[in-house]
Amino acid sequence: MANPWKRKVRSSGKLTVWNAAEGWAAIAKEAINTFNTLGFGVKFEFLDGDKADVVVKASDGTSSHKFKDPYFGEYTVNVTFDAGSVHGRTKTLVEPDKKIIMKAAVFLPNKLTGATAKVKEIVVIHELIHAAGLDDNKDHDKVSGLFYSPLEYGSGKLSEWGLGGKYPPMPPVRIGAATMCNLKSLWVDNAGCD
Ligand SMILES: [Zn+2]
Repeated sequence: MANPWKRKVRSSGKLTVWNAAEGWAAIAKEAINTFNTLGFGVKFEFLDGDKADVVVKASDGTSSHKFKDPYFGEYTVNVTFDAGSVHGRTKTLVEPDKKIIMKAAVFLPNKLTGATAKVKEIVVIHELIHAAGLDDNKDHDKVSGLFYSPLEYGSGKLSEWGLGGKYPPMPPVRIGAATMCNLKSLWVDNAGCD
């Protein structure tokens, strides 16, 4: 299930992001700037350090991040995933009673080789959508677009797995209607989605 961000963040329409992605930092920066043009009702703003709402890191497949948060205190999240494929891993810290997101960490697949910068940018944008509130794998777009899962990679392009030819390959960035609606409704009152 998708979760909204804590009220103060939600009402600002902004998520601060610490781009600590090392070898992926330039790609992550591009992806964040592209995300901000997509009209989701939320934009990322760069802020280095523990105060940032979201941290973006590169991962070899087994990683952790220690959040420092007024509610949770010091809280470490761990991930294990295949860092050689066209997806990353995002972990949100959800306050258990109100079901609101307090922090998020995005881990990018450091062992992905041979992919173009534009393909990697799409991999990052997919994870930023998780971090912005569609934080469950059940929130993936069931029809199309870069938030579909799994995406498959071939000939320098990404496409919805098993649907080759049905939709134009990515890049360019393509957002499914359901993803747009679902994410926007977390950030904008009366977003007009059903
Ligand atoms: Zn995903």
